[in-house]
Amino acid sequence: LVRRMREFGPTVFATMTKLAVETGSINLGQGFPDTDGPPRMLDRAVEAIRGGLNQYPPGPGVPELRQAVSDHRKQWYGLAYDPDGEVLVTVGATEAIAAAVLAVCEPGDEVIVFEPFYDSYTAAVALAGAVRRPVTLRVDAGRFTFDPAELAAAAGPRTRAVLVNSPHNPTGTVFTREELEAIARLCRERDLVAITDEVYEHLVFDDAEHIPLATLPGMRERTIMISSAGKSFSVTGWKTGWVCAPEPLLRAVQTVKQFLTFTSSAPWQLAVAYALREETAWVAGQRAGLQAKRDRLVAGLEEAGFGVLRPAGTYFVQTDIRPLGFDDGLDLAMRLPELAGVVAIPTQVFYDHPSRGRHYLRFAFCKRDEVIEEAVARLRSLR
Ligand code: PMP
Ligand code: GLN
Repeated sequence: LVRRMREFGPTVFATMTKLAVETGSINLGQGFPDTDGPPRMLDRAVEAIRGGLNQYPPGPGVPELRQAVSDHRKQWYGLAYDPDGEVLVTVGATEAIAAAVLAVCEPGDEVIVFEPFYDSYTAAVALAGAVRRPVTLRVDAGRFTFDPAELAAAAGPRTRAVLVNSPHNPTGTVFTREELEAIARLCRERDLVAITDEVYEHLVFDDAEHIPLATLPGMRERTIMISSAGKSFSVTGWKTGWVCAPEPLLRAVQTVKQFLTFTSSAPWQLAVAYALREETAWVAGQRAGLQAKRDRLVAGLEEAGFGVLRPAGTYFVQTDIRPLGFDDGLDLAMRLPELAGVVAIPTQVFYDHPSRGRHYLRFAFCKRDEVIEEAVARLRSLR
């Protein structure tokens, strides 16, 4: 294995899901729903296959999906992207993130990432031969946030890009307008590209609002905006994502994407185009349902004795394990199947400074109510 990839082993999600299967534990680790997306969307995928949409689609994506993504951006956020030249369909957000980083970073360039970070970010930066500059999210008033001075200090002469994920995995933070403005200011002042991962854009709770960074002044022209169907429509296995960006940036990402995978699977694209247009009510119901699941899991984890950080979005809740008398989340995560028959994710693996995430465990609540209830009942035995 090349040197720049040697720090990477199997992903924590693969490891923990394997542990759940081997031990017969309830898997609140890897974030995937245990129910299906909108039935008519599933029908559309079957129809696309039966209808013969089984050969290479156009490299940038099928026109119906590019148009639906463009319309969606316009309707939800007032952002205009030309479906021909400013929208690209990718193999999930994961490919989009890797292609974006590979497209804008020279070897030795620096990329600012907020830690804890989604694991594919660090690997994408390493693949590009670039260097990550972590800015730590710390708990303040019950939510993870960053210090704008620390963010500004992370930018140096070689800094090329900042990777922004809101709603944020694994903390559940939804960045406020003020936080986004601090990021935008830095991007404008230092001429940085923003790569935004917005896969949880529709999964925000209570009065939290998802604000795309590209909507802030001076940001559309420098932002590579990424999302995917997996979370919005409960089809994480479809791996259908997209990029919206001004033409020069989109062309750069497409240049890389065409040699990573050439194009993305065809049948899902028509089904997702349909869902973006027609399943808005389903998504709203899903959001409300997830909020109730969040509340159910938060209450259960509090009862079980964890210190719980109520998330404003995503599938995930962070817990502090110290009130239960534990100290190291990695150690507890590995023992949790035996202690309670539950699997969770040790948050510290998403840090360059693992000590800063040592006390946290991440639990996923994108599961059926009875699964959450059973997990919570088991976790009560930890007290
Ligand atoms: N970004 C974040 C923050 C995620 O949590 C995930 C995965 N679930 C992805 C990207 C990957 O999305 P996709 O499955 O569309 O590649
Ligand atoms: N995004 C999911 C999570 O954070 C997992 C995706 C994966 O397995 N790579 O749990």
